[in-house]
Amino acid sequence: MKKIGIMGGTFDPIHIGHLLLGQMAYESFALDEIWFLPNGNPPHKDAEVNKKALEHRVNMVELATENVPHFRLSLHEAKIGRHSYTYETMREFNQKYPDTQFYFILGADSLFAIEEWAHFREIFPTCIILAAMRDDKDQDEMKKQIEYLHEKYDARIELLRAPLLEISSTTIRKRAAAHLSISYMVPDAVADYMITNNLYEED
Ligand code: ATP
Ligand code: MG
Repeated sequence: MKKIGIMGGTFDPIHIGHLLLGQMAYESFALDEIWFLPNGNPPHKDAEVNKKALEHRVNMVELATENVPHFRLSLHEAKIGRHSYTYETMREFNQKYPDTQFYFILGADSLFAIEEWAHFREIFPTCIILAAMRDDKDQDEMKKQIEYLHEKYDARIELLRAPLLEISSTTIRKRAAAHLSISYMVPDAVADYMITNNLYEED
């Protein structure tokens, strides 16, 4: 049985926090591949602006993953042309790849917000969740939340051990807007892409 990690996100832009989580999941759980899955656009916002932004988000994920053999860009959600939900995507992946065990990789903020996700109960049977610590949540809080979701929904969740990186796409967008360096926070190719395309400058 193949083991595939799914790293979902907005990736606006992708940064080393996302990539390191993917790499740690790959190593710690002996996964075969990690699929980076940029989500489609939310329904609000102007359509043209949205389209362009999606294209940039996807291009940056491509640049960040193209030279890593076990990392792949999945356009499953990006090409749908609307916002898609994790429960739908995971159901579709399970149907399409019946001989694969999926692992959904996420950070603490997502683990603590998961009960707000659409039809979140349907996500749990489709994958094993790998949850990494982030910012203010400590290991005890993480373990309690994992236990709680397991008891209440039979969710299968493992703690994903990874170096703590206090980096977010929000910080990077703000730094870019303030003309501060984003070196070492995103891969060089992504930094170059951001500069060439003047991304986030008027945020
Ligand atoms: P934004 O600031 O725009 O919300 P973000 O950095 O949180 O961006 P997302 O695309 O929202 O990035 O996150 C995708 C997934 O990656 C989420 O599950 C999030 O918890 C996780 N993640 C992002 N950055 C980190 C990090 N530094 N450490 C651990 N998990 C992270
Ligand atoms: Mg986020």
